[in-house]
Amino acid sequence: MKTITFFDAKPYDREWFDRSNQSYHIRYLESKLTPSTVQLAAGSDAVCAFVNDTINAEVIDALYALGVRVLAMRCAGYSNVDFVHAFDKINVVRVPAYSPYAVAEHTMALLLAVNRKLPRAYNRTRDFNFSLVGLTGVDLHGKTIGVIGTGKIGRTFMDICKGFGMRVIAFDVFPAKDANIEYVTLDELLRQSDIISLHCPLTEQTHHLLDASAFAKMKDGVFLLNTSRGALIDSTALLDALNSGKVRGAGLDVYEEEADLFFKDNSGLLIQDDVLALLVSRPNVVLTAHQAFLTEEALENIAQTTLANLDEFFAGEPLTNEICYQCDEGKVIEDCRKWRKERCF
Ligand code: NAD
Repeated sequence: MKTITFFDAKPYDREWFDRSNQSYHIRYLESKLTPSTVQLAAGSDAVCAFVNDTINAEVIDALYALGVRVLAMRCAGYSNVDFVHAFDKINVVRVPAYSPYAVAEHTMALLLAVNRKLPRAYNRTRDFNFSLVGLTGVDLHGKTIGVIGTGKIGRTFMDICKGFGMRVIAFDVFPAKDANIEYVTLDELLRQSDIISLHCPLTEQTHHLLDASAFAKMKDGVFLLNTSRGALIDSTALLDALNSGKVRGAGLDVYEEEADLFFKDNSGLLIQDDVLALLVSRPNVVLTAHQAFLTEEALENIAQTTLANLDEFFAGEPLTNEICYQCDEGKVIEDCRKWRKERCF
């Protein structure tokens, strides 16, 4: 039986992988995969990792030296993997889609929570404080929402927004050939939107896509939503924009420095990250800890797809969900052998 070392395992991962697994011995480890923990993969045939593991050149070389030839990412995003270094050494597979609804619905939950000040209201009523002062929101109906990235999650979120009677505009570097989407330039989106929501991947091009100059182009009093990746936003520029009133409220499920903090209980620690501390303390910011994906349906799909990816690898079959640096942000290009329905290498 092949052994999988499963880094950064949480109880909900274990529950859903154990339900789906019949073929593998899975060693669940609480540690993240980093240069200092990589040796824990000794003796395994595969490694399973997640969004905040560090899969840099050092880790890849160490895994390769341990004989590991496949890395199964149990997530869609892969900005934490050094693909150029992994090429020709370790095949990387991922779960390209597990529930766009989970993330899109959570994005709307954040918008409703920020706009209607639900955390504040919840805390008040628990204390029998039934005052409504300071709880005024706006109608979402008729507002313009700008969606950046019109892939699976962005489009699902757009449908939800249309159900609320919003006007939806979008920007994507690869616009879908879809007459129902009103595409505009990024500048135009920043200028026109009452609400902006990020649904594009984190790449060199999108790092700090929303920086001080982007905030300057936005309407005063815009709402900002990010359930994609933290580093799409320059967090210091966001704090400035919140302070000036440029941004009326922010719903964030990700944070650019989340890697050492999220997915664990830090309540007994003094948080050293001042930007995060300031963001969390603001009444007009609702921050969740990268939980947008966390539905039963998504966890079941993640487990089943990850195990199917490993089945393909060990059966020597083409890897449906393989990704390499040539795959060009998910869009397979002609240079890549995957285009010819083979493995990337
Ligand atoms: P997807 O690949 O289906 O869509 C991404 C879209 O972004 C594509 O249409 C692509 O063309 C577009 N894009 C790429 N570069 C761009 C740029 N520079 N500007 C504008 N658009 C650009 O991906 P998806 O499944 O919709 O996921 C979107 C993102 O959501 C992922 O990259 C991931 O970071 C994030 N995500 C977060 C969670 C969570 O729990 N918070 C869970 C899953 C995914």
